[in-house]
Parts: sequence; C-alpha cells; structure tokens
Amino acid sequence: MTQITMPETVRALAEADFSAVAQRFAAAGFAVNLPAPGILQIGSGTQRVKPMSLLLSVGVHGDETGPIEMLAHLLAALAESPQQLALDLMVVVGNPAAIAQGRRFIDADLNRLFLAERGELASVAEAARADAIMQASAAFFAGADANAQKWHLDLHTAIRRSHYPTFAIVPEPIADADRQALTHFLGHAAIEAMVISPKSAGTYTAWTARQFGTVSATLELGQVGTLGNNDLSLFIQPKAALDALLRADVQVLSEPVAGSLPHGFRVAQEIVKLSDDFRMAFDRSTQNFTALQQGAVIASDGATVYRVQHAEEFVVFPNPDVRIGFRAGLMVVRES
Ligand SMILES: [Zn+2]
Repeated sequence: MTQITMPETVRALAEADFSAVAQRFAAAGFAVNLPAPGILQIGSGTQRVKPMSLLLSVGVHGDETGPIEMLAHLLAALAESPQQLALDLMVVVGNPAAIAQGRRFIDADLNRLFLAERGELASVAEAARADAIMQASAAFFAGADANAQKWHLDLHTAIRRSHYPTFAIVPEPIADADRQALTHFLGHAAIEAMVISPKSAGTYTAWTARQFGTVSATLELGQVGTLGNNDLSLFIQPKAALDALLRADVQVLSEPVAGSLPHGFRVAQEIVKLSDDFRMAFDRSTQNFTALQQGAVIASDGATVYRVQHAEEFVVFPNPDVRIGFRAGLMVVRES
C-alpha cells in the first residue's frame, strides 16, 4: 500500500477529532461544545453581534474527501487567530465510519435519511448517525441570534465528471433576498451552476431548509478522491469564499463577482427507480449536465418510460445503482 503523508489537521478532521481546534477556540473565550462525535459547535464568546449561524458539513458521503481536506486547512488557519471567527459555527463530519473505510456509506446513503419516516431504512447503521446530526443541528439553530442569518453549506464531490465541475443544489423554500446573497457567495466560490430543487429526497440541506428556514446548499466541488491525495488547487476559490464568510467579510454576500454568477437551473423531473427492471438510457461515463432533447428516453422501468419533456433537459446525478424507491437521477432545465 502506498504510504500517504497526511497533515495532522487533515487526519484529525477525517477521524472526527476536533480536540486541537476546540481547545484553541475555548482558550480564546468562545463557547465550545461537542454534542456528539464529529460535531463541533463554536458559539459567541464575546458580546459582539453575530450576523450568521453557519453550519458546515463534510463527509456525509465517506469517499468524498476533498472538502474534508479543504475544511481541515481552513479551520487550522482560523484557529491560529480565533478572534477572527465572526459568526456562530457548527461543523459536522457526516459519516466518520464510512470515511474510515473510504466508502460512500456503510449500510445506506446517509444523505437520504434526513426524514422523520425512513421506512425500510429505519434500522440501517446510518439512521442513528442521522438522528445525532439532526438533534445537534436543531439545537444549534434554536440558539441562533434572533436577527442572525441561518446558513447551511454541505460540501460534497461528485461521483462522475461534470460539464460544470462545481455546482450547487439549492432546496426550496428560499426567499428572493436569500437566494441573491447565496448566488453572490457561489459566484465568489467559483461555483458554476445552481440547481433549484423543490423536492427533498431526504437530503441534509433539504431538511435544514424546511425545518429551520436556513439558506441551504449542497455544494459539489469536483470529483471523488482519496484522503490526502486531493488536488487542493481545485478548492482555492471555494476555500477563500468560505474563509471570507467565517470572518464576516460581507462582500461575498452583498456584491457579485463580475462575470461569474452561476448558471441557474431548476429541477424538471425526478427519475425514481421503481423496480429491478430499471435501465438508464446512457452509460456510466455520462457527465453531469449532459443535454438531452425533447422526447429522448431517459430511463425505462417495466411499463414506465421516462422521457425528456421540455425542449431541452440536462441530466444530473444519474445513478442506476440506488435502492428501489429512490431517486436515480434529476432532470433539470435552464433558467438563466
Ligand atoms: Zn456526496
């Protein structure tokens, strides 16, 4: 096996070990709380007005390690000058057991379990983890300042190549003013596309948006890579934008970056796998945001045939390997 020299901060975050970071912020007078393994909350230790309660999550899929590395470096740098942290922060390492094994999940996709009713998935290994995360998230947002903005950014990397290497899935509901601030942030983070999604599918961000009215986004920041081996040069702009947010540099929310607003899309239809007969009309090399024209077959599933309904639709997250009853892909249409 190849030996990877991994920075200590990356190893610690991947192992859901917050001790070094927690100690720094506690020593600087912040209220630090570790409500469950892999969950860190840093609250206002001073009288300053906090403009935002920000939840950052990584590793909800255990094999998506780039954002873990990026966040580890970000937190380590911030911990050098803790007083720069200008908001209430919660960090979640989603699925430490899966991260340890370099797998997407152990029993089931954690990012389908942020629901009260989980049906056949009620007893999978990830269900208890989802409960712990939901409980801590509820407590965090319940403690937000009355006037504070509530944001949740869930950091992922995609399984397949993408026409837009970085994109965001933004669950509804989202108010117009919040959507504008988020669009500005995404521009600063060099996120190239934004998909508005009306349906939940049990994702973490859909749950926070609905439950707490947070501005939520699932950020896809490139491709799956092994821990310690990610090309961090691909994360420079998202990292800088997150860093600005943590230090309350309001420009990332109030001012667009010239020429770099993300392209806008909206979910047109969800492709649900109904049976073992489910077949997708394209192969595994199909990139995210591949265009299909009206009438084209997307998938067939026994008597059901999914076809493109609009003049042009783009496929996102095609994955025929999901469990029966779950979403095997999204079809989106261009808005802007
Ligand atoms: Zn993911």
